Amino acid sequence: MHIVVCVKQVPDTKIIKINPKTNTLDRRSAPAILNPYDAHAVQEAVRLKKLHGGTVSVLSMGPPQATEVIKKSIEIGADEGYLISDRAFAGADTLATSYALSKALERIAKDKPIDMVICGKHAIDGDTGQVGPGIARRLDIPPVTNVIEVSEVNVKNKKVQIKRKLTNGYEVIETQLPCLLTVEKEINEIEYSPMPNMINAARYESIVWTVGDLENVDRVQLGLKGSPTIVGKMFTPPKPEGGKRLEGNSTEQVKQLMDLLMEKKELFTTSATN
Ligand SMILES: Cc1cc2nc3c(=O)[nH]c(=O)nc-3n(C[C@H](O)[C@H](O)[C@H](O)COP(=O)(O)OP(=O)(O)OC[C@H]3O[C@@H](n4cnc5c(N)ncnc54)[C@H](O)[C@@H]3O)c2cc1C
Repeated sequence: MHIVVCVKQVPDTKIIKINPKTNTLDRRSAPAILNPYDAHAVQEAVRLKKLHGGTVSVLSMGPPQATEVIKKSIEIGADEGYLISDRAFAGADTLATSYALSKALERIAKDKPIDMVICGKHAIDGDTGQVGPGIARRLDIPPVTNVIEVSEVNVKNKKVQIKRKLTNGYEVIETQLPCLLTVEKEINEIEYSPMPNMINAARYESIVWTVGDLENVDRVQLGLKGSPTIVGKMFTPPKPEGGKRLEGNSTEQVKQLMDLLMEKKELFTTSATN
């Protein structure tokens, strides 16, 4: 099985600061990390490789320093990593990102056909969750989102059974290979990397492609030119107000609660007609 995992380098949003003047992320204020959902995606690909054999490749689009997330993926157990990096990709929205990544996947598949593509559920910075399904649409393979378990893979019959998280439970579906999965964090636990993986990662040189290395690319669909998204406004959501403790016995508390709801216009009285 050849599994390709799309991995994105993101700023650590737990510590990133927002510039109060421009209301944009101050990317220099936080270290760049492997998108946490993508770490789970790589771990799942490595688990499937242990069960069914094959190769795990990772693919990233970003600046030259994005090779760091490829090294991190090698540490988890991936075998090879590709970075597409070119000024032509800069300023890409999700439409242009999925286009560039799908062209890189076609290029990878030319040398080694791909059985499965795995993405994270979403990136913790952009947070749209659109790139995975966008790639699947472009490659014309089934997308399966919110995956929490890959229960059975039949490589010979090209079938896979998958458990998906729903709002109120889960569903188990069967689909064909190749397909594209987007995974939730619950899918697995990230294991400690063994020492040989760490040594491999430290020495690993990623395969870096520019736009010229990809085939049949329509440059108009790349980068800012290929990005119809317009960001109207960015703002920091207001901090939630502290809660209010209701005093007295239960009758008094209910009255206070009703008064508060009426005050906030969350509740309206209706007059009985008979
Ligand atoms: C007008 C505009 C200009 C922008 N310019 C830039 C820019 O210059 N530089 C920049 O970094 N961002 C830029 N962005 C943000 C960029 O659009 C998104 O970060 C990117 O398209 C991915 O979307 P997302 O973060 O919502 O990913 P999601 O759809 O939430 O990601 C889901 C999954 O897709 C995969 N994935 C997503 N992005 C990548 C990637 N780059 N490489 C590999 N796998 C990936 C991962 O598996 C990830 O878990 C721009 C956005 C807009 C609207």
